[in-house]
Amino acid sequence: MQSLTDRSKIASDKKMSFLEKIYLPAIAKGMAITLKHFFKKKATISYPEQKREFSEVYRGQHVLKRDDIGRERCTACGLCAVACPAEAITMIAAERKPGEENLYREEKYAAVYEINMLRCIFCGDCEEACPKEAIFLTDRIVASQYEREPFIYGKDILLEPLDIEKRIDISKRQTESVLKFKENKRFAHNK
Ligand code: SF4
Ligand code: SF4
Repeated sequence: MQSLTDRSKIASDKKMSFLEKIYLPAIAKGMAITLKHFFKKKATISYPEQKREFSEVYRGQHVLKRDDIGRERCTACGLCAVACPAEAITMIAAERKPGEENLYREEKYAAVYEINMLRCIFCGDCEEACPKEAIFLTDRIVASQYEREPFIYGKDILLEPLDIEKRIDISKRQTESVLKFKENKRFAHNK
């Protein structure tokens, strides 16, 4: 049968020479390869002191956005959860009560909203599916943990701060088509 690559080697039962038996040529060959790589430019960097530049379209930790006056944009419609191929999103919807209009933009909101970061593959489908521009992926890295439990991110982590100065910048995620969509008066409620 013809091999698919040229990497396979025919095994031989040829008797080993004295030098081969003491492995000296093999050790010298190995050392030569090590030395060759020793003077080459390193492929690794000293993280966290040094950081690599991220791609413009890097998709990292999610943010749940607020509108201009600080109300939560998410209406707990569940479209992001349905679109998620990893089934990483879960939520519990609640009804907005009179007097809470300044907290939630719609009559329904997510009382609980969780993303399992161990399941998430950062595909961005949740962002694409959201009709309220409530969820975006950002260039923030999901922090490493020793336990599994802290990887379940709730609203305490996902929701952006109320303070306008501390809002999470998602301008990189606002593609031309998204901005065009925003200009449409029919969808003014999505602003
Ligand atoms: S980025 Fe993809 S995998 Fe992660 S929560 Fe969103 S839809 Fe699910
Ligand atoms: S984040 Fe968007 S898609 Fe997901 S439940 Fe909220 S409004 Fe719906």
